[in-house]
Amino acid sequence: MEIMDNSDTIAAISTPPGSGGIGIIRMSGAQSLTHLQTIFQPQGKNCFFESHRLYYGRVVHPQTKKALDEVLAVFMAGPKTYTREDVVEIHCHGNILVLQSILELLLSLGVRLADPGEFTKLAYLNGRIDLTRAEAVIDILSARTRKGMEMALGQLGGNLYEQVDAIRSSLVQMRAIVEVAIDFPDEDIEIINYSALIQQVQKEVLSPLDRLLRQADEGKIFRDGISVVIVGLPNVGKSSLLNTLLQEERALVTAIPGTTRDTIEEYLDIHGVPVRIVDTAGIRQGADEVEKMGIERARKQIDQADLVLFMLDAQRGVQVEDKQLFETVTHKPLLLLSNKSDLVSGNIEIMKLGLKDTTIPCIQISAKHQDGIEELKNAIFKTVVGGKDQWQEEGCAPNVRHKVSLGRAREAAIRLGQGLEFKNTSDLLAIDLQDCLEELDAIVGITTTEDVLDVIFEQFCLGK
Ligand code: GDP
Repeated sequence: MEIMDNSDTIAAISTPPGSGGIGIIRMSGAQSLTHLQTIFQPQGKNCFFESHRLYYGRVVHPQTKKALDEVLAVFMAGPKTYTREDVVEIHCHGNILVLQSILELLLSLGVRLADPGEFTKLAYLNGRIDLTRAEAVIDILSARTRKGMEMALGQLGGNLYEQVDAIRSSLVQMRAIVEVAIDFPDEDIEIINYSALIQQVQKEVLSPLDRLLRQADEGKIFRDGISVVIVGLPNVGKSSLLNTLLQEERALVTAIPGTTRDTIEEYLDIHGVPVRIVDTAGIRQGADEVEKMGIERARKQIDQADLVLFMLDAQRGVQVEDKQLFETVTHKPLLLLSNKSDLVSGNIEIMKLGLKDTTIPCIQISAKHQDGIEELKNAIFKTVVGGKDQWQEEGCAPNVRHKVSLGRAREAAIRLGQGLEFKNTSDLLAIDLQDCLEELDAIVGITTTEDVLDVIFEQFCLGK
């Protein structure tokens, strides 16, 4: 594929703001080397900017001759680069002031500040990666669990692309047959082997599409995670559980009822699922103003949650207030927690909650002594992943955009299958084939429209 004629040379800081050992400025475009030569003063004499070699020196302002930092610089000649254009990286000290001063110097030379995701967009536009791989880069940057990271890396390695491409190849082959039939309309029957094509559609198009759609549903949980909210009366042990789960004293733990004034949220990794966990303010009657605001927010958190952990105090037993509070969460997927199991023997009488669904699991835990926590994590995983011990499908998680196109491709494939059953004419079959192909082309980025591309690349951070 031809390299895009992007006359701009662009640059951005690629490392996160804040201090770190190293900070990196990345530049891409035809003028990259010229600009590097303007601002870089090498230590040794033999600096020929051989491609892909790191040189030690200083960034010096060409007019004031002031040194901005001691750096390592590398020039990488296209097309063997991230963007396929000429690329330069300057590795300086990881201080935002140093990074900014070097970036500003480059901008003053006529370099344009890169848009978020522009380097990756160039990689896509210049044909180095397809669109699913570009999207995998976003997933890698935002992955919150190892599992999510593995899936994103698999997608970057092409496992989604390859599955979609295999379906496309089959459709292209069928289209070739149908097109011949269009050219020789009187010989439809002889050219098209309807029963063979019906089988091909089922085996090479519909089955793989179904598998990908299943992966989209299952993978979503591992990529996007779920939101879990802990609900219970004041003092049942919500903050203690949050702390135990996070193994850090982040939430305020106190013996005075009503001191958890706000919702606090953190992420956990439960068997690869990123779990956003929220501790709600203790909901109770007669709350003061500050607390009322917290309660309001807690109600919103409950509505937005994928799963509610409803906590009871095993020592205190089920009270009328527990029952009242419980009624506000019965519309949600639930797990019951009987906390402070260290203080009592025997089970809490959960039927006093007025349970209609007696299959809701009740887990005995002691948040304070960290008992029953593994069981709780297993129960959370089982509830959200649908009871499977392990996620079966290996490393591929189509995102929402892919899923929509996969769904439409599937509809077109079903129409195609029916058309073949009815022995439709080749021009009608060609329409469904084309519809199906177009959806798959959009997934890998062959026919993706500009506005869709904008939405995708806007999700990137600066410098990627
Ligand atoms: P919250 O208001 O629901 O957030 O409750 P807290 O987490 O602040 O806990 C209230 C009190 O119960 C504190 O004194 C905790 O130390 C105590 N507590 C919490 N969990 C347990 C437990 O499992 N066993 C015992 N014995 N005490 C607990």
